[in-house]
Amino acid sequence: MMSVRTFSLPRFLVALSRGALVTMTTAALCIAPVSVAGAQSSLVPIVRDAEIEALVTDYAAPIIKTAGLSRNAIRIVLVNNSSFNAFVDGRRIFVNTGALLQAETPNEIIGVLAHETGHLAGGHEFKLREQLAAAKTLAVVTSLLGLGAVVGGAAGGASGLSKAGMGITMGGPEAAMRNLLNYQRTEEMAADRSAITYLANTGQSAKGMLTTFERFSNALALSGSNIDPYRISHPMPRERIANLETLARSSPYFDKPDSPALQQRHDLMRGKIAAYTGGGASVLRTFRKDPRNIGARYGDAIATYLNGSSQSALSKIDVLIKEQPKNPYFQEIRGEILLKQNKASDAAKAFQKANALDSRKSSLIRMSYGRALMLSGTPANLQASIKEIKAGIASDREYPTGYGYLAQAYAQMGDMVRSDLASAEQKYYSGKIQDAQIFAIRAQRSLKSGTPEWIQAQDIISAKRK
Ligand SMILES: [Zn+2]
Repeated sequence: MMSVRTFSLPRFLVALSRGALVTMTTAALCIAPVSVAGAQSSLVPIVRDAEIEALVTDYAAPIIKTAGLSRNAIRIVLVNNSSFNAFVDGRRIFVNTGALLQAETPNEIIGVLAHETGHLAGGHEFKLREQLAAAKTLAVVTSLLGLGAVVGGAAGGASGLSKAGMGITMGGPEAAMRNLLNYQRTEEMAADRSAITYLANTGQSAKGMLTTFERFSNALALSGSNIDPYRISHPMPRERIANLETLARSSPYFDKPDSPALQQRHDLMRGKIAAYTGGGASVLRTFRKDPRNIGARYGDAIATYLNGSSQSALSKIDVLIKEQPKNPYFQEIRGEILLKQNKASDAAKAFQKANALDSRKSSLIRMSYGRALMLSGTPANLQASIKEIKAGIASDREYPTGYGYLAQAYAQMGDMVRSDLASAEQKYYSGKIQDAQIFAIRAQRSLKSGTPEWIQAQDIISAKRK
């Protein structure tokens, strides 16, 4: 338990590589729509969402397996950034929401994941990490829902996120950049070759990978200023594209399309990301070729909800539920909308359904279910609420929001000691160690020395401040 705590934040401090590295050397961005008071750290804004996490994990799982990496040891982390980027550290693959939004097919993302897995399996990141040891970076966990508020408040459709992305285009010293490109070239070619092998082994096409890299290569020729970080960290000389194309076309799976079911999940994900990051206008833009696509209608429902028209959003989501009664994420959004309408009991029923339908048992859905039970306010529901929130936390120990719900539920029961202890955990995993210790010290005063909860408080009290 101690080791988890003391390692969790420092690990994030060195969690950057590749695309982010370039970013650091140019504008110290990519990262950082928000900043922590008193710290000069930039932030990697993490997005948590049950639906997107499940889909990207499904994309990555066969690739990770065939690369000989342990599936459980590799985590997929979604980064809230509108630029096309993906990067790895020792045990994680970071994927920007911008990449997920821009990729039109699952195969395009699977190609990027295969390439990044190539870097992971090749141990490429370790050398880069040394150069990054000094970089102060802290993770801030946010949810897509929290994001909606940011987007809603931003004028002219330019969210804080896209502004952060735009900062990257300001560029940096040319020479430093060129050194970096040389340094990376060999590793890039190696990662390409590994990616092609993984895709062939898993019976998948490398067409999407080629599409993505060709897109960068062309865009680079057209525009000198609007540089995407993935393009900077993945230099695409003509020969590399040509090599890639020869290899990709030699695969018997080159023309194998994505399954319609997977494409549909991809469309739903794009609709959701578009709605949360750019509202209704972004949904329209994303699906301009196919405005009746289920992803477009899903995005429209979510954008309507974020706009404050919850009754209209509810009707729109109910139409989708009729089409796909077994989709857990439609129920999840329904629950969110009902919570917004202060109908906590109905929301709890929607989240309960979502949880029952969710074969992965996402901790996020369980926590939302618990929260809705708590907000419904009956004593019986309050007990059940704590059970659900704790079950969510058990499989997602570093997610601060879960502890926040737990603190609220205990406070509602009048159990201030456990509420303080949960608040301490919430602050701890938000990187606010000093605040965490204040809560832990207060909780510990009323706990019996040596009990598991006393030790839990002690772990936080004796954690090192960053
Ligand atoms: Zn690469």
